[in-house]
Amino acid sequence: MTSSFSNLSLAPSLARAVAEMGYESMTPIQEQAIPVVLQGRDVMGAAQTGTGKTAAFSLPLLQRMLKHENASTSPARHPVRALVLLPTRELADQVAQSIKDYAKYTQLRSAVVFGGMDMKPQTLQLKAGVEILVATPGRLLDHIEAKNAVLNQVEYVVLDEADRMLDIGFLPDLQRILSYLPKERITLLFSATFSSEIKRLASSYLQDPVTIEVAQSNAAASTVEQHFYSVGADDKRHALHQVLRGRGLKQAFVFVNSKLGCARLARSLEHEGLKTTALHGDKSQDERLKALDAFKKGEVDLLVCTDVAARGLDIKDVPAVFNFDVPFNAEDYVHRIGRTGRAGASGLAVSFVAPSDARLVSDIEKLLKRKIEIEALEFDENQPDIRRQGRINDGRRMYAQTQEAPAADRPGRFAAAHSASGERRSESSRAKPASRDPFFDQPYQASESAAATTGIETAAKVSSGRGISANIKPKRRVAALFKSE
Ligand code: AMP
Repeated sequence: MTSSFSNLSLAPSLARAVAEMGYESMTPIQEQAIPVVLQGRDVMGAAQTGTGKTAAFSLPLLQRMLKHENASTSPARHPVRALVLLPTRELADQVAQSIKDYAKYTQLRSAVVFGGMDMKPQTLQLKAGVEILVATPGRLLDHIEAKNAVLNQVEYVVLDEADRMLDIGFLPDLQRILSYLPKERITLLFSATFSSEIKRLASSYLQDPVTIEVAQSNAAASTVEQHFYSVGADDKRHALHQVLRGRGLKQAFVFVNSKLGCARLARSLEHEGLKTTALHGDKSQDERLKALDAFKKGEVDLLVCTDVAARGLDIKDVPAVFNFDVPFNAEDYVHRIGRTGRAGASGLAVSFVAPSDARLVSDIEKLLKRKIEIEALEFDENQPDIRRQGRINDGRRMYAQTQEAPAADRPGRFAAAHSASGERRSESSRAKPASRDPFFDQPYQASESAAATTGIETAAKVSSGRGISANIKPKRRVAALFKSE
C-alpha cells in the first residue's frame, strides 16, 4: 500500500514543490522514513539508490527547519543547520540539486561543496550563509580548516551512501567532521548494506536509531533480466557490439574495473562507431559533468565507467548495464545493475565472464543467494566482426537505428551452459584488428586537469598541508579505525 504525500501535512511550500516534481505517492523508504524523521528520531536506513531516499530524508528535514526560515541578508541568520555528506562529487551534486528542487518555495538556502572545483565560489556561498550544506568529506574539511564553514549550529547530519564512504577510506574524515558537530543532533545514516563496519559506525554516532529496510539489502532489482556470458578477454568488445545490436539497445552503461581500462575501452568503442563517453576518476570535474550531461541528453550511446564514478547516479531509463569486467566486489554488482530497471522499468544486465572470474562470480552467487548460470555466447558470423575491422569512426549510431534484432543473440538462443574449459570461440574471432591506435601502446596518464583534481574526493590527510584533496587512499580495514569498545 502506498500513501500520498498529502497524508504528511507538509508545509504548503514543500507540498507545492513535491507536486511540481510529479510525485504522486510515496516510495516505500519515504513512507517509512519521513514520519520517523519528522518525529526527530535517528535513522539507520538500508535503501538502494533510486529508491527515493533523497526526498525521504530531505523533506522532513526541510519541514523541521522551516521554523528558521527568514529573508534576512545577514549570514548570521543562516547558519548551517543540516549537513549532508556523500562519497562522490556527482552524488553530492545530484543530491544538492534535488534538495534545491524540494526547497525552492522556501527561504532556506542550500549549497554544495566538493573537490575538483575552485574553492572561491563555494567560499562566497558559505560566507553568505546556508542552512543546508551538501558536501564530500575531503572538501568539507578544506573549508572547515579555512574557517569558511562553521558547524557549531548543526542540528541534522545525513551520512548518505555510508558504506561507500567507508570503502573509500573516509572514516577518519567522517570522525573528524563529526567531532566538530554539536552532540545534540539528529543523525541519519543511509547505506546500501549493513556491514559490520556500518553497524559499528552507527553504534558510535547514532542514538537509539530506528532501523528501516525497504528492500532486502543486497537484493538485485527483480525487474532486471540478468545474463552472464562466458566471453574471453579478447572477445568482449565484439560480444558487446553483438548484444547491443541484437537487442536494438539505444543506450547503456558499460562498467569496467579500472580507470585505465575505462579510458581505453571508451576510445576503442568510439573508434568502432559508437558514440561513447568515459566517466572515471581521472577526468576533471568539468569533464565528468559534461560526460553525464551528454549521456542524459541522449547525445552519447555508451557511458563507460568505473564503480566509484558511477555510484548512485540517477539517470532515468538506462535500458541496459554491461559488466565488461565482473566487479571485484560482489556488492558493486548490485549497485551496477541498479542503474537499470529503475522505478519499476524493466532492464537488462549483461556480464562478460572470463574463465579467471570464477571466484568473483561465486561471490556474487553468495550475495544474491542463488545459482548463476553462465551462458555461452555464440557469435553471429553474419554480422561484422569488429576485431577484423579497421577504424570505423564516422560517428554513426550503430544500433540505435537497428529495429530488427538478429535473433541469434536473444536470450533464448544462447545455447550450452558454460563449461570449465572456458568459452567457445570461432576461428575468425581470433583475428586481430586491422589498424591500431597508438594511444593503446602508451602508458596510461591522467589528463593534466585531472592530475590536479583526481577522480573522487580524497580521504583527507589530517596532518598534511591540505590544498585540493589528493588521491584516493587504498582500501583499508575500516574496523581497525574505530575506537576499541
Ligand atoms: P533518489 O533515490 O533519491 O536518488 O531518487 C531517485 C529518483 O526517484 C529521482 O529521480 C527522484 O526525483 C525520483 N523520486 C523520488 N521520490 C519519488 C516519488 N515519490 N515518486 C516518483 N519519483 C520519485
